[in-house]
Amino acid sequence: MRTIAVSIVTPDGPVYESEAELVVAKATSGELGVMAGHVPLVAPLAIGSVRVKTGNEQDVVAVTGGFLEVRPDKVTVLAQAAERAEDIDVDRALRAKKRAEERLNQKREANIDHKRAELSLKRAINRIQVAQLGKK
Ligand code: ATP
Repeated sequence: MRTIAVSIVTPDGPVYESEAELVVAKATSGELGVMAGHVPLVAPLAIGSVRVKTGNEQDVVAVTGGFLEVRPDKVTVLAQAAERAEDIDVDRALRAKKRAEERLNQKREANIDHKRAELSLKRAINRIQVAQLGKK
């Protein structure tokens, strides 16, 4: 089967490079599956996972939004932060989740803090879920 190159990059540098038969990412418009030869596109990503599949192998990477760029032979993800499932510190994500939940319970009137806490909660839950997926 033909493969497509996959690269996940953050401002701190590259996080993941591989060749894949299928890449599944969470675009803001819904789940997007990409194989070699896909039409070129750029799509904004939600906080979610990027799953990279080859044969029976699957790598999972947590991404905090960003963009997906598809060319026929390459998929590039540009994200503010990204972690491979095995690099996720689950205790840290659980602490971040607790902090965000506490903020959400306290500050209902302060809109900006509320939005920030919601995003922080989403990042934490995503990291916890991706770390779980990576163990399968
Ligand atoms: P925290 O409150 O724990 O810092 P956060 O959601 O605010 O979480 P980010 O701003 O998204 O963190 O990320 C900051 C940096 O820390 C990034 O390089 C990101 O990859 C890394 N990072 C954040 N949380 C984790 C985690 N649970 N495990 C591993 N790396 C993490």
